[in-house]
Amino acid sequence: MDGADTGKTNVIERTEVVIVGSGFGALATAKKLAKAGTPFVLISETTEHLFQPLLYQVATGVLSPGEVAPSIRAILAKYPNADVRLGRVVDVLPDDNAVVYEAGGRRHTLGYTHLVAATGARQAYFGRDEFADVTYALKTVEDAERLRRQIVRCFEEAHTTTDPEFRKNLLSFVVVGAGPTGVELAGQIKELARRYFAESMHDIKADDVTVTLVEGADKVLPPFGGKLSAYSQEALEKGGVEVVLGTMVTDIDEHGATLSTPTTEESRRITAETIIWSAGIQANDFAGVLAERTGCDTVRGGRLLVDNDFTVGRYDNIFAVGDMVTLDNLPAQSPFAMQGGRHVAKTILGKIPAGTAFQYRDKGSMAIINRFRAITRVGKIELTGFIAWILWLAVHLMYLVGFRNRYIAVMSWCGSFLGHRRPHFYYAQEAARVPAGATNSGVDVTETDAAPSEKSREPVHAA
Ligand SMILES: Cc1cc2nc3c(=O)[nH]c(=O)nc-3n(C[C@H](O)[C@H](O)[C@H](O)COP(=O)(O)OP(=O)(O)OC[C@H]3O[C@@H](n4cnc5c(N)ncnc54)[C@H](O)[C@@H]3O)c2cc1C
Repeated sequence: MDGADTGKTNVIERTEVVIVGSGFGALATAKKLAKAGTPFVLISETTEHLFQPLLYQVATGVLSPGEVAPSIRAILAKYPNADVRLGRVVDVLPDDNAVVYEAGGRRHTLGYTHLVAATGARQAYFGRDEFADVTYALKTVEDAERLRRQIVRCFEEAHTTTDPEFRKNLLSFVVVGAGPTGVELAGQIKELARRYFAESMHDIKADDVTVTLVEGADKVLPPFGGKLSAYSQEALEKGGVEVVLGTMVTDIDEHGATLSTPTTEESRRITAETIIWSAGIQANDFAGVLAERTGCDTVRGGRLLVDNDFTVGRYDNIFAVGDMVTLDNLPAQSPFAMQGGRHVAKTILGKIPAGTAFQYRDKGSMAIINRFRAITRVGKIELTGFIAWILWLAVHLMYLVGFRNRYIAVMSWCGSFLGHRRPHFYYAQEAARVPAGATNSGVDVTETDAAPSEKSREPVHAA
């Protein structure tokens, strides 16, 4: 089993299909194989199947991580042919039909007849990786919890500080990138200020909170364009978000960002304690390994240029789907990952001939802006406002895994969108509570030196 330990390819254990990842692409493949009774091993470095489209609701206290990230092992438990392993796949040996993965501090080699990679993507910083250290992202459960803690911290400290400049910076949020993630976060933070914090902290008014959404293109949600982008911008601005278009963020530090507008050659600095980066994606590391081992080309962001049947490089038994690949300029979104995963499963099961080209079924696209406002495009039909918002909730509810999670989501949405509740801020606030005159690290401070030390301090840990 541990051929990789010895440096030789000594593949003792084999299975029919190895699936790497536990996101949309991997789960779609796994479900089809599971129902067909084909033995497979699914290896993922995370135990959960993360429903990323609802992550912003974890960051803003509407839902808990458990509701958007059920255990992949539990989802597949009823299938005896499914074997789920927690591990990180670090190498592939295509000529030996084997992958190498790390689990429990050891390296293992596992042979396959077919390999399906769906390892997704992470934030891209376009050559400025140092931005990762001073910004907040929204890709994983940990990212969402970290951002939620930061939001709570900022409001809590703005409520207690007597330094007006520090208060202003605590209540300033910059969101970089006006794609779906940036738009939904910008809209939600402003809404949080108005409908939650301003209600419970009487000295904080919604207008004290500034949210600046910065986008390099000349419109928000650029892939939608036209009326839908214009509506989204207007809805954001009506909700109090400052939208800055045609502008790049050229520098970021712990206390703010520098914005540069190429057309006017203007540059300005915004001071803010919270900068959220949602400006693009790049494939996770395993895509690079696959590219190197199989000779597959990659495009910008390290995404694999797969063939139209999702095969990788020269190998007709290695497939890659989802955010880690690019095909026909299709959007890196969950329908592409799920449909790709199912297509590959059908190929493996012999339900379609090997080499069958993938046909994408465009079921429409949608994006949420804030409470009661969203946009939807299905074919030539374009919807905006409340109807689009209801559709967004309904579609996302349908794809959420598990009856219990769906039920809790509906209850939480009623509380948050009809009422003023943010059930999952209560836990964060509990953990954020510190004794008077003490920092979270336990060091006594006075009000005057609290502000500078806080800026370099790690956010408070939530329960
Ligand atoms: C905040 C946010 C909002 C979004 N909103 C929408 C939306 O509204 N609509 C929409 O259609 N799409 C949306 N998306 C995009 C959608 O979530 C992705 O397109 C989709 O998750 C891609 O699926 P995937 O299977 O390719 O990758 P992922 O779902 O990212 O899964 C990748 C998996 O691979 C695992 N992994 C990575 N590397 C390794 C390794 N070396 N070994 C083992 N396992 C590994 C990870 O742990 C993870 O389980 C959103 C994304 C984000 C981040």
